Amino acid sequence: MLLQVLELEKKYKSDMAVNKISFQIEKGQCIALLGPNGAGKTTTLQMLAGLLTPTSGSIRFSKLEGKDYRSKIGFLPQHPAFFNWMSPVQFLQFAGELSHIPTQQLKEKIEEVLQFVRLADVKKKRIGGFSGGMKQRLGLAQALLHDPELLILDEPVSALDPAGRRDVLSLITQLKEKMTILFSTHVLHDAEQVCDKVIMLKNGEIQWDNTLEELRKAFTTSAVKVQTE
Ligand code: ATP
Repeated sequence: MLLQVLELEKKYKSDMAVNKISFQIEKGQCIALLGPNGAGKTTTLQMLAGLLTPTSGSIRFSKLEGKDYRSKIGFLPQHPAFFNWMSPVQFLQFAGELSHIPTQQLKEKIEEVLQFVRLADVKKKRIGGFSGGMKQRLGLAQALLHDPELLILDEPVSALDPAGRRDVLSLITQLKEKMTILFSTHVLHDAEQVCDKVIMLKNGEIQWDNTLEELRKAFTTSAVKVQTE
């Protein structure tokens, strides 16, 4: 087990955004956090990434216990922030220095991640001229700079057109061979394309936590039942 979430809760004043949720993530899994707008997905992911303090509950990373596990999380926010006047190389250099990645290692890593997200050809162009899909791929490159063990992606494809969506989902599919992935979406079809497990959130509560196969079985069976009754 890589991570265990127990009774995690986040309240904004009196509003309960995440209501005592518990789940665990095994090393190597690719999990889709599925739910409609306002379900609590961003709040949950930000707590896991250490960007938001829970009101109560705990998040335990068993594999890296005792160490700063957060340095092993790669996080792509829902709306990644860039400096539009920079090039991808300048931006990743800046982001890598902020994360204290050693200079020589950073130089090599920047080339590697830009190649991976297929931005090597435009690595010296201004980010300001990039499409939404290119920016999302650059955000993914940034999240990969320090070789994360767990990659957390907040709605990485929601704002993209079909081509951009396909591109980013195919990158996630390649990454899942190498690392544990948790990504949020409000579209089941995205989850079906890359993930093997779904955690469904609604109103800050878990509605489903099981494999996609079980999800299909449960809901196809009930649909068939309804039709035949
Ligand atoms: P979306 O798909 O729209 O991004 P989400 O599933 O990511 O939604 P959250 O953004 O986590 O959901 O929001 C969960 C609930 O918490 C919502 O009711 C939202 O209005 C509320 N909320 C989120 N952030 C804040 C905040 N900073 N202050 C007050 N309420 C907030």
